[in-house]
Amino acid sequence: MWQALDIETWIAGRRSNLDRVKGPVAEIIGRVRAEGDDALFDLTKKFDGIDLESIAVPDDEREAAYDRVDAHLVESLVEAEARINRFHELQRGRDLWLQEMEPGITLGVKTTPLSRVGAYVPGGRAAYPSTALMCTVPAKVAGVAEVCCCTPPPTSPITLVALDIAGVDEVYRVGGAQAIAAMAIGTATVPRVEKIVGPGNVYVTAAKMLLREEAEIDFPAGPSEIAVLADNTANPTFIAADILAQAEHDPNAACVLVTTDATLADAVTGEVKRMAEGAKRREIIEEALDHSGYIVADDLDEAVEAVEGIAPEHLSVQVADPLGILNRIRSAGSIFVGPYAAVACGDYASGTNHVLPTAGYARFYSGLDVNHFCRRSTVQVITREGLDAIGDVVETIADAEGLHAHAESVRVRRRG
Ligand code: NAD
Repeated sequence: MWQALDIETWIAGRRSNLDRVKGPVAEIIGRVRAEGDDALFDLTKKFDGIDLESIAVPDDEREAAYDRVDAHLVESLVEAEARINRFHELQRGRDLWLQEMEPGITLGVKTTPLSRVGAYVPGGRAAYPSTALMCTVPAKVAGVAEVCCCTPPPTSPITLVALDIAGVDEVYRVGGAQAIAAMAIGTATVPRVEKIVGPGNVYVTAAKMLLREEAEIDFPAGPSEIAVLADNTANPTFIAADILAQAEHDPNAACVLVTTDATLADAVTGEVKRMAEGAKRREIIEEALDHSGYIVADDLDEAVEAVEGIAPEHLSVQVADPLGILNRIRSAGSIFVGPYAAVACGDYASGTNHVLPTAGYARFYSGLDVNHFCRRSTVQVITREGLDAIGDVVETIADAEGLHAHAESVRVRRRG
């Protein structure tokens, strides 16, 4: 149950979760590589308990999904898509920029979207239409021509509607490590993709890590996490509510309160226990709370240092001067500032992306955005005048490296 934590032990525990399943996941990948679609049918029966008729979701089933979803929910998904689209449009750079650096030397960058990407939309313990939007809208904004999606059966009509609103081209009903393997390696039904994005449980995340040589991946986005950085001005009920919201995702989800105030830690502990008792997903929450808890720091500096050690997926900042603290935070997937910035707003509808690095990987990965779906090529346009300006520097360094053909490729032009 929710308890005082030792930060070092806690961080080590998050990583070992992934290592534990790498063996079984490698076996699943091996089967998909050897048996293709047959392995997908068989593994779906084994892990999802479902005898699939077809792996691809036909277009008429995607259209009919609208009849099975409440109209207000469809409207809410449309509005969420618009907000996510609006924020991600802001991330789009120019397709090509060129700048004359000096007479005869013009440099620039050309940005090209990836051609085909695959999104994994989880579906084991909950339907995630929000994740369907988060994974695919940035790809469409980037201009990716073909976006496909794998999601475990039974395929939720709500997820199908969300995928349709986002304009996803193909949907496959397969989940877990086998879905990641299908998209990375390719099968008769699921053509391989250039990049795989999207969160999932430990099996999904381990498969992404093991298949990195066959398809680019976004980053490990495994069981959800939250860290709350709070002082004595924070509202314990708001904090407990955000903690439960994260804990209900997965028994492996983890939540940490880092506070300078022991009284607040006690108050949050009381609220977490009270709210967990009445929660609809109580069993999952209680398991998640087993590896969750609080750290009482001596002062704000020590608290900020502890948050840096966690490098959390979500960071909620509940202190007297939250914007003052923002400058000092370096490693967090997404930062929620102030008492009214409920993490759920970013999960669903403010417009920021909820596909974020977990297990401390926010230390060197950034959350999903438009740039994940683009390649950038540098460009140079050099005239004879430009070549004369840098020729001597190129020839001198190339000769010093013993790469005389490099030097000659410039000399031959300058001689002419
Ligand atoms: P999931 O779709 O990730 O996993 C379900 C699949 O796991 C099943 O289809 C099955 O094939 C496979 N599986 C189950 N048990 C297995 C076993 N013993 N061996 C091999 N494979 C097995 O759905 P989920 O389990 O509900 O997990 C969703 C996860 O996504 C949660 O951890 C949630 O916290 C996380 N999430 C993360 C983010 C993020 O951005 N980081 C966002 C949304 C959700």
